Amino acid sequence: MSLHLLPTAMLGILGGGQLGRMFTMSALSMGYRVTVLDPDTESPAGALADVHLCAAFDDSEALQQLADTCVAVTTEFENVPAESMAFLERHIRVSPSSEAVAIAQDRIREKRFIFGAGLQVAPFLAIESVQDLEQDLIGHLPGILKIARLGYDGKGQIRVFSSEEAKAAFIEMGSKPCVLERKLDLQTEISVIVTRSGTGQSVCFPVAENQHADGILDISIIPARVEDAVADHARLMALQLAESLDYVGVLAVEFFVLDGGELLINEIAPRPHNSGHYSLDATLFSQFDQQVRSMCGLPPGDTRLLTPVVMVNLLGDIWGDDEPAWDVLLSQPNVHLHLYGKKSARIGRKMGHYNVLAEEAEWALRQALELKGRLKKE
Ligand code: ATP
Ligand code: MG
Repeated sequence: MSLHLLPTAMLGILGGGQLGRMFTMSALSMGYRVTVLDPDTESPAGALADVHLCAAFDDSEALQQLADTCVAVTTEFENVPAESMAFLERHIRVSPSSEAVAIAQDRIREKRFIFGAGLQVAPFLAIESVQDLEQDLIGHLPGILKIARLGYDGKGQIRVFSSEEAKAAFIEMGSKPCVLERKLDLQTEISVIVTRSGTGQSVCFPVAENQHADGILDISIIPARVEDAVADHARLMALQLAESLDYVGVLAVEFFVLDGGELLINEIAPRPHNSGHYSLDATLFSQFDQQVRSMCGLPPGDTRLLTPVVMVNLLGDIWGDDEPAWDVLLSQPNVHLHLYGKKSARIGRKMGHYNVLAEEAEWALRQALELKGRLKKE
């Protein structure tokens, strides 16, 4: 992976949602060309890319076309069929590897891998059949039953307080493999995004503090309001995990922070992450720039924080009959608005985000919340 791929090479991406769109914008601005594979005719990334292959992720003709026309391929989501990535790997550079994606797309494999790498996760049990819930569950209750595959934004998760409830929840989720995880008292949640190049050079982005609402990321505060030792520890854990995975590309690591600063890894994402969107405006290179750089064999760019920042997600919930009051954000000289070009707003759908930049994270947070309260038109 030492050979640099330079503009105007064609880069491919599996998935054309907002993450693919921001990747595409970054790649285009550097002079690369982009092909997006996504079955959605209204794909936010497809609308900007040089080529939009509008086909399923396991469509053999589309995959062959990617292999024939691109010099490297990456992904914007973990649920691409591992076989599609393995097929592409036989022809062109693929980062992250199909192996890393296969681990991240299955909570059971993911937690076992993290634990096997010597890092801590929340106490969990792999539940593959109802019999697995016959055992003594003390230590895992009250808990959260999480579907092993295809869960996101808190979907595919049920809170359970007893083994009867756990069994009912397992059946409700279609008796598919799950993990039962103990519900922990969280002091806070943080995340670290790492970029690792094919030559093993790694850098971390500044640590983000994340607040969720209804299981969906709501606000990220950077720098995270944790002790330096906790932030340093999180960075080290993220780097260690990237190394253990022999990872190439952008890897997001979500952490639970317990009382006393103890860190557990919640989950990983083999791609840029919502909690890294602040990097579009507050670091020298964004997480999407890093995705382009790593797939092209270039060393990671500088990730130092230029200014404290607060990112706020814009969900479809604030769309009424009218668009939200964008002038509230656009009239501020220290606020960057990013909209993803999605045509229909739905409850819980990620439509965009804004970054508030200020000298102090606390000021940015106060302003971010004040602006948020004025966005929805009544
Ligand atoms: P996303 O796609 O937003 O990352 P997800 O569906 O993959 O979400 P998780 O990251 O597992 O789900 O959980 C979403 C949120 O639910 C966490 O960020 C945390 O706030 C809460 N949560 C999950 N597991 C636990 C736990 N074991 N104890 C306490 N809170 C939890
Ligand atoms: Mg999560």
